[in-house]
Amino acid sequence: MKEWPRSIRALRELVAIPSVNPMGRDDLPAEIVGEQAIAEHVAGELARLGLDAALVGRGGRTSVVAEARAGAGAETLLVASHLDTVPVDGMEIDPFDPVVEGDRVFGRGACDTKAGMAALLAALFRVLERGRLRRNLIVVGEADEELRSVGVADVLAHLGDRRPDWVLATEPTELRVIHAHKGVVHARLRAQGRACHSSDPGAGRNAIVLLARAILAIERDAAILATRPHPTLGPATLSIGVIRGGQAPNIVPDEARVWVDRRTLPEERVADVRAQLEATLRAEGLVGEVVVEACTEEKPPLETPRDARPIHACLAALESVGRPGELDHVAFGTDAGVFARAGVPSVVLGPGSISLAHTARESVPIDEVETMVRIFERLLEGEAPLRAPGGL
Ligand SMILES: [Zn+2]
Repeated sequence: MKEWPRSIRALRELVAIPSVNPMGRDDLPAEIVGEQAIAEHVAGELARLGLDAALVGRGGRTSVVAEARAGAGAETLLVASHLDTVPVDGMEIDPFDPVVEGDRVFGRGACDTKAGMAALLAALFRVLERGRLRRNLIVVGEADEELRSVGVADVLAHLGDRRPDWVLATEPTELRVIHAHKGVVHARLRAQGRACHSSDPGAGRNAIVLLARAILAIERDAAILATRPHPTLGPATLSIGVIRGGQAPNIVPDEARVWVDRRTLPEERVADVRAQLEATLRAEGLVGEVVVEACTEEKPPLETPRDARPIHACLAALESVGRPGELDHVAFGTDAGVFARAGVPSVVLGPGSISLAHTARESVPIDEVETMVRIFERLLEGEAPLRAPGGL
């Protein structure tokens, strides 16, 4: 039996514990759903390192929080590594058997983002063993990153007034430091018509036809987004994702709904998205007939200034392990945006590639996991020298 490094042993244990986010579905086997089992496992690992972990959340959607104190006056870093994974339908490997093949570990969550937690646990073990913790650390394994981020809300409520100086959220970024991404807003629109027999359609009001007018108007008005790109992230986007309505061909439908996915720029708020949709409906003469039934921010956008403290610390840590200190942005939303919205400067950094996350053969390169261990060691030991602003 090959003896794997501590990080890879930890990763394989994490992959072997199913922690599927049901993503609103109710057809998944109960034994693979939820974060309770993996949160208990992480709490146990932290207890072995002498850390008192708290489990927060409800209904099996459990997050874990623990603190390691370096001492008064030390900077406090919060590392968040979400515990949930997307479902496993259509996977071409056993999702919960963490096979090592070549230089990679396979399995659901291997890169998104159990590798991040595994690297943190391995680094923390070494740093505590050496007695060299120089930054206060809040370890967070949060539930529900893949859908609504209720885990971060639970964690922030648990921390109360205590806020870290900065947050590092692990996600597969191929060890690039990510300081910006768009946010995600989902809106649901309902067309209200009047049902009647389809042989006399004039006697009713067809909700599908009303909704079709609304959709075309929304698409037309959304074209303006492309003309106002963000300097880093490009333009906001809009996509019509789901449409539902009608009961039978011979009934004029009285109700129809559409779901809109809107990727927001850092300066946009959910109220802006709602106002834009309502303005379009007004201009189209659909007031009262098509309404914005719900409009919620699923993930806030992220835009941490380039001269912010976490960016200097992470870039310096990367350079100290021989990786190019590059600053980048990504197309997907993360829990870093949720922490940033709570007022904490946040970045995203982790092993593995987003192109393999959520896939039928999800995997992570072992060397990137091990490099992440060394990055965490530098960050926790406070050896990362702060770079002068403007040194990018
Ligand atoms: Zn993720």
